[in-house]
Amino acid sequence: MIEKLTDIKGIGEKRAENFRKLGINTPDDLLRYLPRRYMDFSALTKLRDARAGECAAFCAEITTRPTLVRAKGYQIVTCRVEDGTGKAQISWFNQPYILSAYHDGDVIYFFGTPDIKGRTLRFSSPKVYKQNPVIVPIYPAKAGIKQSMIVNAVKAVLTDAGGEIEETLPERILKKYNLMPLAEAILSVHFPQSTSDLVKAKTRLAFEDMLLFRVALNLMRLRRKKRSGIAYDTRGVLAEYMTRLPFELTPGQTEVIAQIEKDMQSPHAMNRLVQGDVGSGKTAVAMYAMSVAAKNGYQSVLLAPTEILAAQHYDTLVRTFGEGRVALLTGGMTAKQKRTAYADIEAGKYEFITGTHALLQPGLNFSQLGLIICDEQQRFGVEQRAVLMKKAVTADVLVMTATPIPRTLAMVMYGDMDVSQIKGMPKGRQRVKTRIVPEDKRADMYKYLEREAKEGRQAYVVCPQIENEEGEETNENVKDVYSELCAELSVPVGLLHGKMKAKEKDAAVEKFRSGETKILVSTTVIEVGVDVPSAVNMVIENASCFGLSQLHQLRGRIGRGSEAGYCFLVSDNRDNDRLNALVSTNDGFVIAEKDLSLRGPGQFLGTVQHGESELAMLSLACDMETLTNAKEAADELFIRADDYTEQIVKRAVARFGVGED
Ligand code: ADP
Ligand code: MG
Repeated sequence: MIEKLTDIKGIGEKRAENFRKLGINTPDDLLRYLPRRYMDFSALTKLRDARAGECAAFCAEITTRPTLVRAKGYQIVTCRVEDGTGKAQISWFNQPYILSAYHDGDVIYFFGTPDIKGRTLRFSSPKVYKQNPVIVPIYPAKAGIKQSMIVNAVKAVLTDAGGEIEETLPERILKKYNLMPLAEAILSVHFPQSTSDLVKAKTRLAFEDMLLFRVALNLMRLRRKKRSGIAYDTRGVLAEYMTRLPFELTPGQTEVIAQIEKDMQSPHAMNRLVQGDVGSGKTAVAMYAMSVAAKNGYQSVLLAPTEILAAQHYDTLVRTFGEGRVALLTGGMTAKQKRTAYADIEAGKYEFITGTHALLQPGLNFSQLGLIICDEQQRFGVEQRAVLMKKAVTADVLVMTATPIPRTLAMVMYGDMDVSQIKGMPKGRQRVKTRIVPEDKRADMYKYLEREAKEGRQAYVVCPQIENEEGEETNENVKDVYSELCAELSVPVGLLHGKMKAKEKDAAVEKFRSGETKILVSTTVIEVGVDVPSAVNMVIENASCFGLSQLHQLRGRIGRGSEAGYCFLVSDNRDNDRLNALVSTNDGFVIAEKDLSLRGPGQFLGTVQHGESELAMLSLACDMETLTNAKEAADELFIRADDYTEQIVKRAVARFGVGED
């Protein structure tokens, strides 16, 4: 009988500890630890149809003898392959065994995400097989846990259970929505036999996750209804606030501020979603709501998805309201710094508090929390939204997003919220001109950037993060481009990526802001918030790797000063139809709709929403219908209030940590 992780063969105390780091504490957690994606060899792609940044499965013949080279501390095995439609180059890093296992003339099955350099299609460490493995799950693996360990442990637990997994949904719901039973879904999701099986399994699990999420939201909403909110006195606040701003509010900002003022005056707690394109000035709107809270003696919190953005909000708040009233709290702070900040916040020393999700930690208590604002909501996972709701039982809630969530999707995710939209842009905002640049013009483009930089017009160079075969993101790409530019350009170049320490990140942004570095090579950590007005140009390498909404967000970083911005999308020609949408419009809403129609809600959510821990299945399940059904079932279950409701509410509470305080 397997009752705990250490009962599984091959898992001792130490490995169990590593499993715990992945959030796997029990054998049941293990069964619910779902693959992030699948290598689907049941549909093979031709090399001719390979796209930079899109992972796919291929079958090709090795046409050169695999050879081993050593470079930069790596052992790299490389060879060339062909499949009759195209050629590619493959490199495997630190897997010297490939050399003896694969030979010139072998036919191989491999799965990977290519990039394109010059005219060469390149794969870096793709998974490779001698026979077609049909469908292979890829788990999010780290902390010393390898794919094979997860697979073996899941196998052991499933064998032990002998197919007996207790059903968690009522029969009538399974029937009504034609859902796969849990036992079958768990088996198929770990060991899929066919694509159609897998789809049914994912749908079932996504349905359940969504159902629990909706139940948790409903629960929180009821709780909020029972307690009355704060009826703020807003008299005179706007006039006083405007004297603190270095600019006039736009009509769009003024309109949304008026809606927020009404919400805050009323004795019901505000629950509002503010959508506004990149650069429309959401921060100024947020700070108005914060001044209302402060005027009434309440603390307010401005939550940001990245440390860089939190630091920037901190500066803006200090500039607007003065030092001594503002606190910054991020995950990168030392334990001691955090303790001091926690104590000060609890003692009511600060009125304005900003930071990352460190603010959502259970240890943090406020003295008088009146308002929670979540900035760039699209970057947070839905679980964080649930935690936020819990913190905000009586507080007002304002959620801000730059990526508009299309209406049908918003109904499910945010159906309980009032929605505002900031129309228009601040005066003098420059339109960003976007161009598609073919690979063979890359060198010329960089020479242009160099000339521009010498005249003070700074540039970002954005590189995609590539996932390696263990499902981990690597920074090889951004580092390669960085070394290349350092070697070839005669202007100072900086580097920024998510794996750097908070201090190093701050330093890199600061050097760029001050003009010490002229070109900043970065991953998408700059995607949200970063505001450096002297940055005029942006290059996006392998632009095909990004979703349209994400590209639009990225280019929103430039053209913020007095000069027009230029965005260069480096792409092979295959993706131009899609990228042309960006060349032809600067309207984020139009772009989001296009993005959604091209990729469906599952992928759309999966890429615009990069929460730390998301509803795992939500981004895998690809149809709107499942989400809508789950919402309907949750709402019905809630009204019905029978034994099942109680059970499911209990699970929702446990799943999203939204129990009574
Ligand atoms: P976003 O909506 O993308 O969060 P921000 O709040 O960061 O936009 O604002 C972008 C820039 O525009 C900031 O530098 C901000 O100071 C400036 N800004 C905001 N509102 C106005 C305004 N009404 N007039 C002029 N500049 C503004
Ligand atoms: Mg913003």
